[in-house]
Amino acid sequence: MKYIGAHVSAAGGVYNAPANAEAIGAKAFALFTKNQRQWRAKPLSDAEIESFREEAGRLGFSSEHILPHDSYLINLGHPENDGITKSRDAFLDEMQRCEQLGLTLLNFHPGAHLGKITEEDCLKRIAESVNIALAKTTGVTAVLETTAGQGTNLGWRFGQLAGIIELVDDKERVGVCIDTCHIHAAGYDIRTPEAYAQTMAEFDAVIGMNYLKGLHLNDAKTEFGSRVDRHAPIGEGTIGVEAFRCIMNDERLNGLPMILETPEPGNWHREIAMIYSLIGSLPGSPA
Ligand SMILES: [Zn+2]
Ligand SMILES: [Zn+2]
Repeated sequence: MKYIGAHVSAAGGVYNAPANAEAIGAKAFALFTKNQRQWRAKPLSDAEIESFREEAGRLGFSSEHILPHDSYLINLGHPENDGITKSRDAFLDEMQRCEQLGLTLLNFHPGAHLGKITEEDCLKRIAESVNIALAKTTGVTAVLETTAGQGTNLGWRFGQLAGIIELVDDKERVGVCIDTCHIHAAGYDIRTPEAYAQTMAEFDAVIGMNYLKGLHLNDAKTEFGSRVDRHAPIGEGTIGVEAFRCIMNDERLNGLPMILETPEPGNWHREIAMIYSLIGSLPGSPA
């Protein structure tokens, strides 16, 4: 079974997210558990935690289909002491918020070297950051997102992600989220059934399908291999609908949360229905 959803609003409180997901026909969802553009957030109250758990349960969302995303400010590979300390503290707070909410996954962008340290040193710092957070929490898996490789961001080559995972102590609590727009921008082709099969085979060979914990479903506004991250509605970008047909008919992806981060939230209910309609459809047939 496929679990499609979107990154829904948690405005007013995290407990509003499940109903926002249900309203668009989602079977999975992503959310920020705090304001993603601020370092500090007040702790979740017992009442907020209780309401979130109740709402998620009432609407039938289980934790493996909820893929929270951390703050954009965090850089777990930051080359400087101040920056890495602040990032590690904030990441631990994010992991602990997930723990409190009963969530088992936390999606994050690996980190950026900012041109100040080598790629290898940055990957080591990221792994060390993950180790620190995992040692202080239980039950939450740190999910590295594939990036577009914009600027000095790492995680755009499968080998970089494999390099981080290799250095993580608890392999049971580290995973990867494939973002379709990002891998396309990074030069992994998924536009035809043949290209899709080859890219997924490479993912399996380099990282391992067992580490795949979720996907972000986005089409791209930018060209293949551009290393520029701009999301487009599904079927309206440079990736095209065939890639999503491949995904929806790939049984290895059953049970994983698949999250839209496309630019028109008002269209998500239609986009989700369209993506579901791709199940069982033949290559080349209209969406
Ligand atoms: Zn993403
Ligand atoms: Zn993106």
